This record gives sequence, structure tokens and C-alpha cells, in this order.
Amino acid sequence: MDLNWSLKELYESFSGEAFQGDLAKLDTYIKEMNKLATEMTENHEDEQKKLEAYIALAEKISLTFEKLGVFSELTVSVNSKDEEGNKYADIIDQKQSDLAEAETKISKWISEIKDINAIIDHSTFLQSFRFFLQEIVEHSKHLLSEKEEVLLAKMKNTGSTAWVNYKNLLISNHKVEIEVEGKKEELPLTVVLNMAYEKNADLRKKAYLAEIDSYKKIEDGIAAALNGIKGEVITVSKMRGYESPLAMTLEDSRMSKATLDAMLSAMKESLPTFRKYLRRKAEMLGYNNGLPFYELYAPVIEKEMKYSYEQGKAFVEKQFRSFDNSLGDYAKKAMEHKWIDVLPKEGKVGGAFCCAVHSIGESRILLNYGDNLGDTITMAHELGHGFHGECLKEESILNTNYPMPLAETASTFCETIVKKAAIKEGSKEEAFAILETEISDSTQVIVDIYSRYLFETNVFKEREDSPLTVKRIKELMVEAQKEAYGDGLDQEYLHPYMWTWKSHYYYADANFYNFPYAFGLLFAKGLYAEYLKRGTSFVEDYKKLLAVTGKLKIEDVTRTINIDVTDAAFWKNSLAIIEEDINEFMKLSYEI
Ligand SMILES: [Zn+2]
Repeated sequence: MDLNWSLKELYESFSGEAFQGDLAKLDTYIKEMNKLATEMTENHEDEQKKLEAYIALAEKISLTFEKLGVFSELTVSVNSKDEEGNKYADIIDQKQSDLAEAETKISKWISEIKDINAIIDHSTFLQSFRFFLQEIVEHSKHLLSEKEEVLLAKMKNTGSTAWVNYKNLLISNHKVEIEVEGKKEELPLTVVLNMAYEKNADLRKKAYLAEIDSYKKIEDGIAAALNGIKGEVITVSKMRGYESPLAMTLEDSRMSKATLDAMLSAMKESLPTFRKYLRRKAEMLGYNNGLPFYELYAPVIEKEMKYSYEQGKAFVEKQFRSFDNSLGDYAKKAMEHKWIDVLPKEGKVGGAFCCAVHSIGESRILLNYGDNLGDTITMAHELGHGFHGECLKEESILNTNYPMPLAETASTFCETIVKKAAIKEGSKEEAFAILETEISDSTQVIVDIYSRYLFETNVFKEREDSPLTVKRIKELMVEAQKEAYGDGLDQEYLHPYMWTWKSHYYYADANFYNFPYAFGLLFAKGLYAEYLKRGTSFVEDYKKLLAVTGKLKIEDVTRTINIDVTDAAFWKNSLAIIEEDINEFMKLSYEI
């Protein structure tokens, strides 16, 4: 059986008439948009007609961009050397910037409209784009003058962008000196980091010590990058009139501070339960003082269920159907219509992803399937993303852009369905192994993310006054870990350098790239709890919720299903599901 995906539903080839025709069309649309921008912004007559024309054209442009871009990118993702794919991916990227000026002009003009809601009320067509237009108005409050925007964009190239490139250069060339099997070696950082999963306990510890030791060579450079980027973010967010970098991030995430605070307070309250798990894991590995940092990923038991692709497919479809046939039908369609690229092969990227292709109402999923349960779960995760896209199919493409905290909802939800079933079907040892991996992952997303949030908050606070020294950054990291992990970790073996290779701290345009992960996991778990409570009546509501993720603020999205995310009770409920798993883990740990 052919396990490669089919892309011919997009285009037969790059040189074919259809692809070249769309490429030419895109150029025409971009010209039209630039012309429209000039004409419509001349004055404020005929606002409704102008808005309608703008939306209609923006929709066409997005669809064409998507179809062309996705075809190029997917081609390259399974064959990194594909020359045409690479060439056109670049060309299409470039074309995006040809729209920047028009977009800025139009945004300013839209924000100057006196009563935009009255105009929207007048037009049935515009009513579907109320959120899209309101968001433009809100964002434009933070726009600077055209000259300043241009200057800022240019200065960023030599500022935060240059810093992040420099930091990436340091990290990617970084070598760790380590003795393996009696031989001194210089290994790439990624290889040494992967040793955290090794079966051999000595090697895990040795890798950690060598890693920590190795940063002396590059710590000053990386600290300079961190100081440069965070400094720029503080300046820019002030100039744009945000209260703080956090306020800027929240607005971009369409999320309120009340929601974040409710979630964080519930997370804080749940920390002792995670510490209980960490201490038990430590005990099982032979430690009395809590878990050393280097044992966080250590395997406790070697027992993994095997699922061939055929078995995995059948298992996933069956479990999806236990939730709802529409989810099972979607999975079956993806599996049978060659929407999935299954096996690893030369030139194919690693990992897994799902790409919703709105322009043709389908999705494509890339896997690197081995025969482990983990691969089956990854398949369920990616199909969950695909199902999210399926629920958005009837929406305009302009209403499908959902924020990062909601991005992992459907995927985590599907993962949970399949994991729960696997735990039920497996032997005691197998169930224990799945639970351990699951809880270990949740510990990262709740406890470690909590520490990262604390760390980033404090870095911003101190960076306001002056750049931080390496010594101070290390102190802040250790303080944050102590507060989050408490006695769950061995205080002698923490990780003062976790800020060096984690790329999230260095995204100037996406700060606090940590809490969205916790939101994603806990929101999906909370929905799952709701499903257990309400049964089949939940299903339609769930699908409706997914369908509005691209056109409402987060609080309004969750309100459609009567969930109040500003209330800590919701988050506590989600955490209770993980706590149940931890209790089951504790029980099993004495039985196996
Ligand atoms: Zn995902």
C-alpha cells in the first residue's frame, strides 16, 4: 500500500497551468489590493461598499496564498531538496511583503471610521466579519506612524533579529565535552540533551554535568542576546502604548488577564500533587532527596505497547468513534484518501504536523511512524488538529485564524481519548508506562511552564532598569525552579541554564510563549471532563466551539459552551483529571 500523501488535489505540478495560473492571479490580486488601498483611503465616503470590497479581495488573496504556499511547503517537507518547491516557497514568502504597505494603510483607515458597528449592522455580508474588523481597529490603536513603523521594522533587523541569529549561531555550533565509554568526545548539544532519555543512569548524570559545565564558553554571548531582545520588547511595547510586554502578549492571544490569573492560581495550588509524583519517581530510581533535574525524563519502566500502522489506524478510528462518528469518519477519510504521509524517508522532516488546507476543505498530515504506541498517539494528536480544520470548513478563511492558546485544544482532546483507551486495554505494566509518560509530559506543561512564567516575569522586571548579568539570570532561573518544583526536585541538582537553549525566551514577537501551553493542555482536559459529565450531548457543542475559535475572544469562545475560564474552578477541575492519573500512578507503582 502506498503510504505517501497525495498533493495532486492541490496541484499536479509547479510547472502546470493550474499552479502558474494561480501564481499570476495572485500578482493581479496584489496589484488590485494596492490600488484599492490608495483609492479607498482617499476619503471616508462609501465606507460600507469599500469595506465589502476589501473583505472580498482579502479573502481571495488569503485562499490563493494558502493553496500556493501549502503546495510548496508540503512538497519540501517530504523532500527537502526539491528545487522547485524551495524556489516557490521563497517566491510566495516574498509576495507577502508586497502587501504590507496596503494593509497598514487600510488598517489606519478602518480605525478612523466613526461608527464601524453601525456600518456592519447595515450589511449582512460584513456581519460575518465583525470580529475580523474589530480586531483591526483594536490593533491599530497600537500602530505608530508609517515612518516609525518602517524605522522600527528596519531597526529590528539589526536588533532583536540579529540577536536571535547570533544566539542561534552560538547554540547550534555549541559542543559539549563529555567522556563516553572511556573516550573524551566533543558532541553537539542536541545529542547530549537527548541522553536525558537514556536507560543508563550514569550516562544521564554525566550528560547533565557536562552540559552545565559547557555553557561557560557561551554564557556571556547568550545573556547579551537575552538582554538585547527583552530590552527591545520593553521599548517597543511602551511605544505602542501597552501597559507591559505581558499585556501585549495577552492582547495578541485574545485573552484577558483575569483568565491568566485564574489559570495560574489553580496551577500553583496543584503543585504539591506534582511534587508527590516527582518524589515517588525519585524513590523508584533510588533517590531520597527528590528527583535530580537530570532524571526528569528518565524511563522508570521499559514497557511500551506496539502498534503497527494498520493496528494504530484501526485503534484510533475505533476510539474516535466511541466519542462521535463524525470524528471517526474524519479519521477514516484522512486514512483512506491519502491525506497522511506515514513513514520516515530520506529528505523528509522529522516530527509530525498537520496542515489544514482551507482552500480545498481537506488537511494533510505528516508522520514519521514507528511501531510504538507513542506513534499511534501522535497520529491521534495530528488527526485532532485536522478535525479542528474540518469544523472550520464552513467559515471564511478570514475567520479561521485561532490564537496559540486554542491551537492545541482539539489535538490534546483526541490524544486524551486514545490514551485513556490504551491504559484500559494494556497490562498493568503497560498502563503504568503510559501513565508515567503522560504525567511526565504534564509535569513539563504545568510545573516547568509555571517556572518559566515566573522566570520571564522577573527578567522583564529587572531588565527595565538595566541589563542582567549571567550570575543574576542564573539566580532567577534557580529561584523560579525552586518555587515551582519545591521538594519535588533535589535542590542540589537544579538547572541554572535552562534559558540558554530554550528558544521561546528569544521570540521578540511572541513573549511569554509558555502559558499558552498550559492553557492548551488544561482547556482540553477541562473539555474532556465536561464530555465525561455530559456524554453525547456534549459532542455538538464541542464541534460548535471549534468552529468559532477563529472569530471570538477566548472568553467568548468558551462561553459558547458555558465554560467560564476566568473562574479558577474550571482550571481546578482540569487539574483534578491529572491528579487522578497521578493517584493511579502512585497506586500502580507499588503493585508492579
Ligand atoms: Zn499539536
